[in-house]
Amino acid sequence: EGFRKFKLNKQLYQVCEELGYENPTPIQEKAIPLVLAGHDLFGIAQTGTGKTAAYLLPLLYKVKYAQGNDPRVLILVPTRELAIQVGKEVDILGKYTGLRHAVAYGGIGPKTQIEQIENGIDILVGTPGRVMDIYSRGKLKTKSIKYMVLDEADRIMDMGFMPQIRQMLEIIPRKRQNLLFSATMPDIVVKLSEEFLEYPQRVEI
Ligand code: AMP
Repeated sequence: EGFRKFKLNKQLYQVCEELGYENPTPIQEKAIPLVLAGHDLFGIAQTGTGKTAAYLLPLLYKVKYAQGNDPRVLILVPTRELAIQVGKEVDILGKYTGLRHAVAYGGIGPKTQIEQIENGIDILVGTPGRVMDIYSRGKLKTKSIKYMVLDEADRIMDMGFMPQIRQMLEIIPRKRQNLLFSATMPDIVVKLSEEFLEYPQRVEI
């Protein structure tokens, strides 16, 4: 039965098959139905558990196809490395969906990233500093964002990105679905979750 027990689409079943994902991992088992049902989610999961696909598969299902120019999904991560890695996974899992994405991180000039965004995207993956920087330049429209993910939220806090996250929350429509993943749950992440999530379902593996 594998991934077909979730209500996804053939574009996503096909890619799971090609990747040899026969069965969902425990975090996918728990998180995918909750994300599909529209809940905010607080996921406690380490890297290597399949957490990226646990949020990407249901979000790729929900946004379905390319639409307009402005991102509907914003995925914030702590580091350039993770941004690149999540971007690759969007590329792979979204390969039959036609969805467009950009990846935004510091350490290089923003020009190419801004061009990608301006070409029209459905999904933006980035680090909070660079995403906020691009917004400040007037190059990112946030009004269409309906799904927001904080991945590795504990590391996002360690990197000191709370101010940028707070700024982002001010400029993104309030009516949206929020997902937060963290490997650990220090007080600062609990506090972040209280500001970020509404009536979250909690999944732990
Ligand atoms: P992550 O925890 O998201 O970094 O994923 C760890 C690795 O598990 C990645 O290389 C994924 O491609 C792989 N993976 C994710 N979901 C599955 C699955 N259901 N079956 C097998 N491998 C998976």
